[in-house]
Amino acid sequence: MLDPSLALIRNIGIIAHIDAGKTTLSERFLYYSGKTHRIGDIDSGTTVMDYLDEERTRGITIVSAAASFPWRRHGRTHLLHLIDTPGHIDFTAEVERSLRVIDGAVVIFSGVEGVEAQSEKVWRQADRHHLPKIAFVNKLDRMGASFERVVAEIKSKFSSIRTVAMQLPVGSESAFNGVVDLVEMRLLKFGGEDGAEVSASEIPAELSAQARAARDELVATVADRSDELAELYLDGKEVPNELLAAAIRRQVVANELCPVFAGAARRNIGAQAVLDAVVDYLPSPVDVPGFDGVNPKGEPVKGNIDDEAFCGLVFKLVASGSADLVYLRVYSGILKTDLAVVNSRTKERLKVKHILRLFAKNVEAIDTAGPGDIVGLLGLKDTTTGDTLHAINRPIALEGVAFPEPVISIAIEPKSAKEKDKLAETLELLCREDPTLRLKKHESTGQSLLSGMGELHLEVNCHRLKNEFHVDARYGAPQVVFRETIKVGGDYTGIFDKVLGDKQFHAEVEFSLAPAPRLKEGIAVKEAVKGKGNLPNAWIAAAVEALDNGLRTGGNWGYPLIYIAATVTAIRGSAEKTVESSVAAAVMEGLRQAIQANTELLEPLARLEILAPEASIGEITGYLQARRAVIHSIDNLPDVRRLVCEVPLAEMFGFSKALPKLSGGRASFSMIPFGYQPISPADLERLNHRA
Ligand code: GDP
Ligand code: MG
Repeated sequence: MLDPSLALIRNIGIIAHIDAGKTTLSERFLYYSGKTHRIGDIDSGTTVMDYLDEERTRGITIVSAAASFPWRRHGRTHLLHLIDTPGHIDFTAEVERSLRVIDGAVVIFSGVEGVEAQSEKVWRQADRHHLPKIAFVNKLDRMGASFERVVAEIKSKFSSIRTVAMQLPVGSESAFNGVVDLVEMRLLKFGGEDGAEVSASEIPAELSAQARAARDELVATVADRSDELAELYLDGKEVPNELLAAAIRRQVVANELCPVFAGAARRNIGAQAVLDAVVDYLPSPVDVPGFDGVNPKGEPVKGNIDDEAFCGLVFKLVASGSADLVYLRVYSGILKTDLAVVNSRTKERLKVKHILRLFAKNVEAIDTAGPGDIVGLLGLKDTTTGDTLHAINRPIALEGVAFPEPVISIAIEPKSAKEKDKLAETLELLCREDPTLRLKKHESTGQSLLSGMGELHLEVNCHRLKNEFHVDARYGAPQVVFRETIKVGGDYTGIFDKVLGDKQFHAEVEFSLAPAPRLKEGIAVKEAVKGKGNLPNAWIAAAVEALDNGLRTGGNWGYPLIYIAATVTAIRGSAEKTVESSVAAAVMEGLRQAIQANTELLEPLARLEILAPEASIGEITGYLQARRAVIHSIDNLPDVRRLVCEVPLAEMFGFSKALPKLSGGRASFSMIPFGYQPISPADLERLNHRA
């Protein structure tokens, strides 16, 4: 039997473009729920959600903190687990891991800038996880803000889902002062101290016609997928509010409808209505009961929230010298203190000693956690992001979190010999926390090469080294991480033939490689082995795996290969002389021939979007064109221009400092990794010279 209170849980994430107001809105959520006693303010660095020093000083969210808080609705207390996610692309791993464990998302758009590049990316990221969404158009108090325009933009940019306004903003720009709720058909105002008191009243006469029309559109949109509503609507009958709300909930949970809300978080308008909507429309764990995993044999298995045995996924780690804190979502069963569990990756048995309810930086010890819950666990040995914990009798590995490959690296060395160990330890700790950070060490020089997702990503971590861990280090200039690809494709045969000990080993593998420009997965390896019925499956699997590993390991300059489609076409061997490792060795031999003198260097590209006042667009364009940018479009928005271009990442170092000078501090930008392109010897020479 399911615990009925499960239906009262909501696991949600707030996702958006940087600066849309995620943290500002989260702070309101915590304050109005009674968990904080005053509202944290981004601009003075006192927010609860951004609790690391690094975040307070930068005013951006680096680590997605999880906070749990209660919300009363219709006389019942719900438990909301909110995962704050950073909007900056450099911290995409944080977004990805959060999306993996939430059941629904609140997507914030700015009422002025609308659907920005990053909001489009996170929306599509959420879609990949089939996440139901509600949208919040924020900053409606700002000049040039328009709810209508942004709703229309969401509609046209994300046409795979139906989008509908749930509210009507009252007043505009600096006179924006409340919203009309189109389900309950009433006016909502947010008064009292810090907007904590919500008052509902009748819709004023001057707004009634407009509200009527907007309600009509809402009903028509929902009726489109609800026979019950359609009947009433077509007969011209009034649709009862509860019926309308229930139909909206069904469609949102089914990911068919995205309701849009209006507000200005900083002005304390609209946040409580969004919390009501989270409860009313986003799924509880009961609404998304099934989950996928694999058993120890690697076969897919299905799990369900009412399975008795415990399993859960670790989706985040906060490292510390003494005891790492991991964040876990429970998928089934009950986790209790002192329960023995198994980590499916390491197969180690672990005892759960401390279960914590996480409220941003404050924590509270609890004894049990049930399905759908999000909790912190302290002091589990060798357990990290992406690991599954399960009951001893229920071996399962849940689908982990996929992370992208780093694109930028920086050399780091200790300032003095006595700092050496501390630096190594701290870098190791940072990498433990963040799976998109990688560390490579040059044994001879003692220099470490730290790679990550962007300049800001590395910069933030270097600052953490200094300010949080007090390690003095010297840094090189950031450099892009190149890739290589093959110039021409072909068919290859790799042969392994060797006597080891007193035994003869032999294997032959044929495979083909073909250039596959801009292949989304980077590398694709498949098998089309002739007469494979007579071959052991293990040989084929070994050949495919070796080819995949070999291509990723590196080409002639030691960079990973990319944009290659590979096929294993034949394997020859004999029961006496061939084992899996001989097949793999044959593949490596064939790859050596295939790659020799046949690769070219690729550099990472970025898609850059800039919002800037018209007066500075000329200068910005000039700056970009001198840096090999290809400009795609320049659009007019109210007050600003939006410029979209593609540019080599190596040319963008220092851009975040240059842009304010080019625009008098009035422009903003976002950058997304955008594949790789060949780099000419002359450009390479120039880049090397500069570094
Ligand atoms: P995040 O990057 O998405 O977490 O955005 P923040 O919450 O840090 O907000 C970015 C900036 O926008 C801050 O300076 C906020 O004060 C400001 N801001 C947030 N909400 C509003 C709003 O409703 N109106 C106005 N005018 N500014 C806002
Ligand atoms: Mg933030």
